[in-house]
Amino acid sequence: MSKGDGTKVVGAGRRAEWTQGIVSPPVWRASTILYDTVDELRAAAGKDTHHRLFYGRRGTPTQWSLAEALTELEPGAEATFLYPSGVAAISAALLSVLSPGDELLLPDSVYDPTRSFATGFLARLGITTRFYDPLIGGGIADLIGEQTRAIFMESPGSLTFEVQDVPAIVAAAKARGVTTMIDNTWATPLLFPVIELGVDLSILACTKYVVGHSDVMLGSVTAAPSHWAKLRDTSFALGQTASPDDAWLGSRGLRTMAVRLKHHGAAALEIARWLETRPEVARVLHPALPACPGHDLFLRDFNGAAGLFSFVLNGGNDAARAALIDGLDLFGIGYSWGGFESLALPVDPGRIRSVTRWDAEGPVVRLQIGLEDPADLIADLAAGLDRFRAAS
Ligand SMILES: *Cc1c(COP(=O)(O)O)cnc(C)c1O
Repeated sequence: MSKGDGTKVVGAGRRAEWTQGIVSPPVWRASTILYDTVDELRAAAGKDTHHRLFYGRRGTPTQWSLAEALTELEPGAEATFLYPSGVAAISAALLSVLSPGDELLLPDSVYDPTRSFATGFLARLGITTRFYDPLIGGGIADLIGEQTRAIFMESPGSLTFEVQDVPAIVAAAKARGVTTMIDNTWATPLLFPVIELGVDLSILACTKYVVGHSDVMLGSVTAAPSHWAKLRDTSFALGQTASPDDAWLGSRGLRTMAVRLKHHGAAALEIARWLETRPEVARVLHPALPACPGHDLFLRDFNGAAGLFSFVLNGGNDAARAALIDGLDLFGIGYSWGGFESLALPVDPGRIRSVTRWDAEGPVVRLQIGLEDPADLIADLAAGLDRFRAAS
C-alpha cells in the first residue's frame, strides 16, 4: 500500500548517513572540501559527484536531503536539482532542452515571469515561443511543428486558474518526441504527481508551499530518467546552487506541508463557496468549483485543491477594488503565496494575454488563504465587499 501524504513528507530524504541520527538533517555549509592527497583530489574530479562531497557548488547532505525528498514525492522520477528561486528553476528547465532554432509552446495563462523569460531571453537566443489556449487539450497536436522542442504547462494557470488536460498534451507530445514540462507550484506533487503521468520535468517554486513561511526563495526541478542528465549538466554549467541554509528551511517546511495543504485547501474552498453566494462577486475562479474552466479535469486528475484562487467582481472599477483590498485587516497586500498568512492581490489578466481573450464582469482579486480561521477571514472579506459596494 502506498503511504499517506503526511507520512511521506515526514520521512522523505532523511537518509541516516545525512542526518547522523539527528531528526532534521543538519546544515552542512561548504565551499572547499579537503582531500588527504593529490591522488585523492585527482580521483574525486573524475567521478560522478552525485551524493558525494566534491566542492560546495555541488551541494552537501543538506541540499541532497531536500532534493531526494522531492524526488520521492514524484513516483517514477530520477532526481531533483535545487535552485535559488522558482524562476531560476523554470529558466534552467527550459535551457536544458531548448537550442537556437527551436520552438517552445507556452500556455497563455502562464506565470508572467515565465512569459517574459521566453519572449525576452529565449528570443535573444533565437528560440521562438508560440502561445496556446490553456484549454487546448489534445488539440495541441495541430500546433506541433518541425521545430517544436518543448511544451510547457502550468495547471491551474496563474491568476485565472484554467485546468489543463495534462495527459492529453503529454500523449500528443510523446507521439512527436517533444519534451513536456509543468510548473506544478500550485498543486505540488502531493495533489498532482505528474512524472508518473509522463511529464518529463516537474518544476516547483518551493518558495511557496514547500518553504511555507514566506521567508526563503527556493526552486526545484524533478526530472524523469530520460531528462535528468541534461537538466543536471545544464544546471552545473549555469553554476546553479541553492544555499544549504535555504535548503534546510525548505526541508523543515516540507515536514508540515501535507497538514498545511489540507488546511489551506479546505479553508480556501469554504471561502470560495461563500464568495459565490455574494452579489458583489460575478465569478469565483477555483478549480474545485464547477464555474472554473477545466473543472472536470481537476476532478479527474488532482487529489485535492490548494489555497490560492481568484474572484471576479460584479462591475466596479479599480478604485472600488482598492477600497475592498486596502481596508482588509487579516489579508496582507503583496506578491508570492503559500505562507501561513493570507494575502490579497489585485490582478489584471487581460493585460498579459496574447492568443486568448479575457472577458470579465469587473476587476479581479487573487486570494492566498493562510492558516487563520476561515470564519475570521470571511468576516474580513464581508466588510471588504461592503466597502466595494459603497465605492462602486
Ligand atoms: C511564484 C511563482 C513562481 C516563481 O517562484 P519564485 O521563487 O518567486 O521565483 C513560479 N511559478 C509560479 C506559478 C509562481 O506562483
